[in-house]
Amino acid sequence: MSNQVLSAGLRRNLDEHLDRVTQVAVEGDAGTALTFMRQHVPGIVAALKVLADEHQADENGHCSKCRSGPFWRRVAAPCRMLLDVHLAVTVAATTARACASPQSHRLRSTSSA
Ligand SMILES: [Zn+2]
Repeated sequence: MSNQVLSAGLRRNLDEHLDRVTQVAVEGDAGTALTFMRQHVPGIVAALKVLADEHQADENGHCSKCRSGPFWRRVAAPCRMLLDVHLAVTVAATTARACASPQSHRLRSTSSA
């Protein structure tokens, strides 16, 4: 198995997993969503922390991960990756709060009549 095939497979599995987590969070009944989130959210948070840790500013204020190459091509921290992750988490949290508000709609009950 070449590295490209392995990489594509890993990426596809990650995308499918994240899509499944999102679908259960948005469409699942409250009990299923809670159980599923307790099982899967800690792993997602751990992955984000790994990414954030890799992209911390060094002693000169540059991203320690994005600084490969000559010194004049180093990237100031926070780098684009960290900004993108922060934006995605903020937007997702804002959307979740809006969807969970009583004015919007309620989570479906697990005990439907
Ligand atoms: Zn970076």
